[in-house]
Amino acid sequence: MPELKVEIDGGLHALSNCTWITWAPCGCPCGALTAAFGDEAFATEEQAWREHYPLKRERDKYQRQGYRMELMSWDRYRAEVDLAAKCPHIKAEATQQTLDAAKVAS
Ligand SMILES: [Zn+2]
Repeated sequence: MPELKVEIDGGLHALSNCTWITWAPCGCPCGALTAAFGDEAFATEEQAWREHYPLKRERDKYQRQGYRMELMSWDRYRAEVDLAAKCPHIKAEATQQTLDAAKVAS
């Protein structure tokens, strides 16, 4: 397979040197998909979505919730994205929901 190149923010990168990052609605990264390996290549956002979520209703659901995908070089990924970091937002939301539930119950 010829090497695919993609342009990101004005720079040219080999697709095999890039990764798709899934961003949660809160702004935290929650997944990564290598953009090209072996005979597989995910050059467009649509292809990346299909690889993550084969079912259209899943894609629709996550896109409606505000998830998005961004292609970036591994260099930028290593510098900016920490998938091991815990999302600080989900817990805050759950706490708020618990408070709301308690209010309704009382
Ligand atoms: Zn978060």
